Amino acid sequence: MSNTASSPATTSASDLFEAGPDTRTLDAQLLYLRLPVMRRHALELSRQASSEGWDHLRFLTHLIEIEARNRHDKSAQRRIRSARFPVLKNLDTFDWNWPKKIPRQAIESFLTLGFLERKENLLFFGNPGLGKTHLATAIGYAAALSGKNVLFANAIDVVNRLQTAVVTHTLPAALRQYTNPDLLILDELGYLPLDQNGGDLLFQVISARYERASVILTTNKVPAQWPSTFNNDAALASAILDRLSHHCHSIVLEGESYRTRKMQN
Ligand code: ADP
Ligand code: MG
Repeated sequence: MSNTASSPATTSASDLFEAGPDTRTLDAQLLYLRLPVMRRHALELSRQASSEGWDHLRFLTHLIEIEARNRHDKSAQRRIRSARFPVLKNLDTFDWNWPKKIPRQAIESFLTLGFLERKENLLFFGNPGLGKTHLATAIGYAAALSGKNVLFANAIDVVNRLQTAVVTHTLPAALRQYTNPDLLILDELGYLPLDQNGGDLLFQVISARYERASVILTTNKVPAQWPSTFNNDAALASAILDRLSHHCHSIVLEGESYRTRKMQN
């Protein structure tokens, strides 16, 4: 196998190479096949196998398992990075006793990700500081860990990005960024009003995902207030809400902002 020396995989010395001529072929082939974790652990694991009397199959299973686990962990880390969560959150750090009203069981059930398989949306309603972004991130994090492509984006940032893409004639590619992921988390809809063009662009994202892939939306505006977010275009607001809420779970949070908790205690 003469091309192994030019393999782009890591060529740092390994115990397998150092062990002597007998193991150099295996070392070169693991390098060629791009199995760096097996290459790093083969010798040590074979010694463990001898001392503990493992049969061949058990040794092979262990060796392949460490490579597979490493690959799985790396791709999960890659998916978490590309999801662009502002801060990583999970439900372990969530204080369920803080909000006055919160559907805990429903929220915990979303971690099993059935809603994603069914292409359902989750709509989080509530005043600022109640944990909407925290909960949406925790669910998105679970989805990324399970192998789904997730994108977290602030609603205003999405609109700004799409408006820029219109100017640079790159709208189709920009739209794909928001329509391709298995899960799009659209955070903070309603915090700032959108102009007509911005609303139309957001509509394109929502309607492209409709019944195809899930959206998690967080908003501080109840549906009756949506027209004010969409430049008082009640028809557009209801067209967006219609698509989002056709197959959805609405989660309404009530209570005081968690951010002010320390001031009160
Ligand atoms: P919202 O999106 O509803 O405005 P956030 O999710 O951004 O609220 O919450 C604000 C801050 O308070 C975040 O740091 C979040 O992690 C924290 N937080 C909110 N609610 C809770 C809670 N019940 N338990 C623990 N942390 C919380
Ligand atoms: Mg938020």
